[in-house]
Amino acid sequence: MSDSKPNLYGMERQELGSALEPLGVPGFHAGQIFRWMYRRRVLDPERWTDLPKPLRERLVSLYRVEPGTVSGTASDDDGTIKYRIDLSGGGQVEAVFMIQDGRVTLCLSSQVGCALGCSFCLTAKMGLMRNLTAGEILGQVHLLVQAGEIEDAPCNIVYMGMGEPLHNYEGVAASIRLLTDPEGVGWSRKRITVSTAGMVPGIIRLAGEPVRPMLAVSLNATTDAVRNQLMPVNRKYPLTALLDACRQFRLQSRDALTFEYVLLAGVNNSDADIRRLAKIVRDHRAKLNLIPFNPVPGWLAYECPDDDRVREIRDNLLELGVPVSVRWSRGRNARAACGQLAML
Ligand code: SAH
Repeated sequence: MSDSKPNLYGMERQELGSALEPLGVPGFHAGQIFRWMYRRRVLDPERWTDLPKPLRERLVSLYRVEPGTVSGTASDDDGTIKYRIDLSGGGQVEAVFMIQDGRVTLCLSSQVGCALGCSFCLTAKMGLMRNLTAGEILGQVHLLVQAGEIEDAPCNIVYMGMGEPLHNYEGVAASIRLLTDPEGVGWSRKRITVSTAGMVPGIIRLAGEPVRPMLAVSLNATTDAVRNQLMPVNRKYPLTALLDACRQFRLQSRDALTFEYVLLAGVNNSDADIRRLAKIVRDHRAKLNLIPFNPVPGWLAYECPDDDRVREIRDNLLELGVPVSVRWSRGRNARAACGQLAML
């Protein structure tokens, strides 16, 4: 059965080397396979023409090379396309292609479901099924690039789909190594953003990586009382610990830091909230992304402030000296917007 064969897709150079060793072939073939899969995006070993034919045949018989498959799509008029992806290891996730002013953003999932239980997020309702492997994460890039025919377009990657990326640290970190390896996908680390609900140990570990992505932190509240209600992870890592970790990340990396803030009417958008928010963002010399809440009627019991209030909040923050932008919802009609991804 082909399913029981190990999958070459997602292996790093060293793992490829160990896979080849028992075949008794020179180690440099690992580098060739690496380039075919990740740099050239050719996944059929028959076409790996700089490998000896007998080796190609053995690889076909012993391994599969599977990034997953697209099993469904939903589109929004704004150009957003949500892909349902059948994972190579079983199960499904969603990944989202977005385009705005010619700039493409790919939004990747890192887990099937999520364990963190944020009360305003649909993915949380699934609970956590499992972590994705590096190959299943990178496979989403492969499939979306292929489907969208965006070979050469400058493109951003955000780990903001289903799951908490820093709760699947190994899989996410390995996928970033494959993405940024110059012999691999060759993506600039500056075009990759990992978004976290506030997993403090993960933030600190990420700060020490030799190749770091950009960091976004979903703040969503300015007091522990409110944040505890919205995001149970805050009970383990309260605001002071989270903000200390952010500071440490900034000090070590000197990269830009982004805070995300979902606007929930009557919950976290009073004038006092906005003043506290401004202070936090300024203290960290960070940028702020306001996300008007995306509703899922019947599932999520919150409301979005009206557009006028959102603009007023933005303008108040600008006056307080905060570099702020509003992430006006994309893909709401395809249920592809922030917090709307779930296999429910
Ligand atoms: N677990 C990670 C990444 C996934 S969520 C994190 O929490 O950052 C990506 C963003 O969508 C987060 O900022 C989250 O707060 C936000 N979000 C979740 N549900 C939402 C909803 N219903 N409407 C708007 N934004 C939402």
